[in-house]
Amino acid sequence: MRYEGSVYRPPSEAYSLIIQATIGCSHNGCTFCPMYWDKKFRTRSFDEIYRDLREARREHPHVRRIFFADGDALCLATDKLLPLLEAVKALFPECERVGIYGRADNIKRKTDDELLKLKEAGLGIIYLGAESGSAEVLRRVNKGETPEDMVTAVHRAENAGIQVSVTFISGLGGRELMEQHAIETGRMIGRMGASYVGLMTLMIAPGSSISADIASGKFEPLNSRDIMKELELILINADCKKDCVIRSNHASNRLVLKGVLPQDRDRLLDQVRRAMEDEKMLRPDKFRGF
Ligand code: SF4
Repeated sequence: MRYEGSVYRPPSEAYSLIIQATIGCSHNGCTFCPMYWDKKFRTRSFDEIYRDLREARREHPHVRRIFFADGDALCLATDKLLPLLEAVKALFPECERVGIYGRADNIKRKTDDELLKLKEAGLGIIYLGAESGSAEVLRRVNKGETPEDMVTAVHRAENAGIQVSVTFISGLGGRELMEQHAIETGRMIGRMGASYVGLMTLMIAPGSSISADIASGKFEPLNSRDIMKELELILINADCKKDCVIRSNHASNRLVLKGVLPQDRDRLLDQVRRAMEDEKMLRPDKFRGF
């Protein structure tokens, strides 16, 4: 299988068959994100994608999961996604779950009925990068979406039976907005009702506008102790009403956390507080990655 440019996928899709349904990201404007700089956004035709699926079928006798990339493949219109999901069912009857990257805006453009149809056709999980629960942090990083957009999108997808895995980025508010970022992120985790939350830690991409802000003194990045403090605040404020699997198992993280909120909150808090006292528990910078 030949891919166009670098291909990214969530940690939990490490063993999935990855299929590029789109190339790049339709937004491609977040100040911290270098993932699709090298690509001009475009959608791929059904025939192009179907060719990849057929080729993959020949190469892989057993495919348990399929993941549609690139950055917000969910931007494809429902009448284009449904035939793709049907093709997956026909070619890979053993496939247990189909996942996709999406933005809140992609969900907003779909009706409740369309979301239900996507679920029935096999779409099992949407990976959505929320990054922060703070409207001000989102504005500064040019996310192009608000916390309310995202909470509504998560509710609608989960109500349609599609699980949502939402990512937040520790350190994204810098020192100035650290507290606001942490508290609002925790609150958003508590009220949005996502099945999964993934925590990443800000990595500074050379050439990004956030790296220019650091050079000019406009953005002060957090050290590892601050990141632990922020994680503590996020967890304290995350009052989940239904079970939410929370993980920080991405290569960018300094501390690996895994649990289910609300029941594991005290254990996770204890782990974070111990890491504040003992930096040996933290992944060194040289082993962190995008
Ligand atoms: S963070 Fe997501 S929405 Fe923002 S540019 Fe990167 S892929 Fe696109």
